[in-house]
Amino acid sequence: MAGEAEAKAASTEEQRYAQVALKLPLRREFTYRVPAGMPAQVGCRVRVPFRGRVLPGVVTELNTSCEVAAEKLRDLEKVLDGDQLMPEAVLQLAKRMAQDYGCSLGEALDATLPAATKRSAARRIPHVELNIPIEIARQTIEELEEKAQPRARVLRRLLEFGAPMPIMQLRQQTGTSDSPWKTLVKQGMLKRLSVLEKSEPLVPDAAEAAERHNLNEEQSKAVDRVGEFLDAKEHRVFLLHGVTGSGKTEVYLRILEKVREMGRSGIVLVPEISLTPQTVGRFASRFPDVAVLHSGLTEAERGRQWRRLQRGEAKIAIGARSALFAPLENVGLIVLDEEQETSFKQESTPRYHAREMAIARGEIEGACVVLGSATPTLESYGRAKRGVYEMLSLHSRAGLGTLPRVLVEDLRSEGKDSRVGGMIFSRTLRQMMEERLSTRDQIILFLNRRGYSPVLICPACGEVKKCRRCAISMTWHARRSRLICHYCCEEERRPELCGHCEHERMHELGSGTERVETAVKQLFPTAIVARMDADTMAERGAHERVLSAFRKRHIDVLIGTQMIAKGLDFPDVTLVGVISADTGLFFPDFRAAERSFQLLYQVAGRAGRAGKPGTVVIQTLCPDNYAVQAAAALDYESFVQQELQFRRLTGYPPYSRLVRILCESRREPEAKNAAAKIRQGMPSNADFEVLGPAPAALSKIKDRYRVHLLLKCRTPDSFRAAMKHLAAIEDRSNRNLRVVLDVDPTSLL
Ligand code: ADP
Ligand code: ZN
Repeated sequence: MAGEAEAKAASTEEQRYAQVALKLPLRREFTYRVPAGMPAQVGCRVRVPFRGRVLPGVVTELNTSCEVAAEKLRDLEKVLDGDQLMPEAVLQLAKRMAQDYGCSLGEALDATLPAATKRSAARRIPHVELNIPIEIARQTIEELEEKAQPRARVLRRLLEFGAPMPIMQLRQQTGTSDSPWKTLVKQGMLKRLSVLEKSEPLVPDAAEAAERHNLNEEQSKAVDRVGEFLDAKEHRVFLLHGVTGSGKTEVYLRILEKVREMGRSGIVLVPEISLTPQTVGRFASRFPDVAVLHSGLTEAERGRQWRRLQRGEAKIAIGARSALFAPLENVGLIVLDEEQETSFKQESTPRYHAREMAIARGEIEGACVVLGSATPTLESYGRAKRGVYEMLSLHSRAGLGTLPRVLVEDLRSEGKDSRVGGMIFSRTLRQMMEERLSTRDQIILFLNRRGYSPVLICPACGEVKKCRRCAISMTWHARRSRLICHYCCEEERRPELCGHCEHERMHELGSGTERVETAVKQLFPTAIVARMDADTMAERGAHERVLSAFRKRHIDVLIGTQMIAKGLDFPDVTLVGVISADTGLFFPDFRAAERSFQLLYQVAGRAGRAGKPGTVVIQTLCPDNYAVQAAAALDYESFVQQELQFRRLTGYPPYSRLVRILCESRREPEAKNAAAKIRQGMPSNADFEVLGPAPAALSKIKDRYRVHLLLKCRTPDSFRAAMKHLAAIEDRSNRNLRVVLDVDPTSLL
């Protein structure tokens, strides 16, 4: 009798087995028994026991049979947020990511979830604050400066911050580990406290309620063409190639209108830096159901936005890279604005490229994908030319704007006198600045290098001040009176004497934005000058604050790095000066010319946005360089034609897909040997070329030697073969050696 009852119970509730993906670098899933009554479903998050620990994971499959021996099986411990399943499309997307970027499914799935959903309730965030009077803190910093730099840095940052500071942020901004602040707490100089997380939504700027313009002919053509594929519910990738100010955003808005009319949803990806209230405002004013996702939000707010999407309260997701995984059903359109931006590539595992993953999601969902840019990457442009994508072009500026006049200033012909102390302004640029300032027009000065000067050199023996931990020169930051390594954030005092020959004064070679700022203030003492770079924009909200002041014309001259190059729209800017076009031109990276061209072209696009005509002055020592010339002529085609020739000859993208394998170790031979070993097993054929092993251009960072291999896969088949071969690569990492597999790398340095 008992046996019968049991059998009956078993048949009404058949035993189920779950395949669970865990966030571990192990490329397989694990089987668990689902206890009776537990509401586990495919796509839900669970907690499971694993080798003596308890780990979160995602259920990727449910079965009623299982091949694992019963005594080895363990039960799922708990279902987490069971009502919130991951959309099927996102699950599939994660599988694609794992395959293409060589990570485990668990790692890929983890990347698709915002941190907040991984936690349960509102969090208390650990902070530290000063526990001693400011004067004593200052003294202590002085004392610690020599022997305990990281602690000095932590104290200094806390002083500057002037309030309790989240420990995470403190660590990031000072490049320190846990030990300095912990020691300071032990010494009684700091106090720990925990602060309840506040939510700060990104409020769209009401003033940016975008006017609904009548489309011009090219814009309508683009909108209609995408519309055809939406009607047919067919997947298609479009490259919207439009000059700066051509009204690409208006095109996205119109296509989105159609998508919403059809009852479908949309995703808009923009670079983090362009995700301003201005941008969000343009979308939010047209659509009531926009959710904004970006890293500047607190985790709680991010979680709230996520749940709005999940519950269907919001149907349009705008955000940076990870908005790609928005939990939306029935996606009709994915837009990727400024598709050339390198921030679309994630630089930690999983190292996916949002562009490629957007296209993959489009395929899975049967959605249209629109990649927009004034300067598309050669990868995208190449594919559009081959008909893999469809090209949509906007040739002229929409509305009032006209393209600016561009002058190339050959710095070689400037007198030697003006070069002393680092050439900053040519006579032409100086004179034009004077004119603009007298008529109260605004000026943007661009130099893609922060700090005062990138090199400190001894004029007697030529010794350059290098970072102790990295094979790189340290940048002199005059305002903070510090030498800083831009790779590991190590800081030092400026040496009184040359470390090699003891000459008395080191010389500042070259200029960064800080030096430009000083020079402008010297030349034009009455001008209001602001600088925008990673140094001045570290605090939250600073970026918006300066831009808004500039827009209100409180500022005459805005100086900045690439931060100011993109997407900003200022009607009263009539002069853009590029202090040096040459800073990135000769980087040892095959994309050096492309990056330089893109930046110069984008910066030039900042002038003459509204009715007033604009002028751009590009200063250079290489006026004959094709990237400089094409940017000056605002001629994308001519640049691309020359660059494509070079890429074809060398077999770089778009003529291949790249995979980089980077081996890092504190011991140089170990890095070399690891790379050599990986190289040995590599298959070789005509479609597949291996370069290296060779020391990376940045051959040592943070005391780790860096040796890399570069694979050029010329066909999809050879790419798949390579990835299969490399499947176990990250497992080679150990305590002393880090092996990084980077597919579609955006930097080869
Ligand atoms: P892009 O994104 O291509 O750089 P934007 O979408 O920012 O260009 O548009 C540039 C400016 O032109 C904006 O101020 C926008 O409002 C305006 N604009 C866009 N389309 C039209 C149009 N059809 N007629 C008039 N003005 C337009
Ligand atoms: Zn360093």
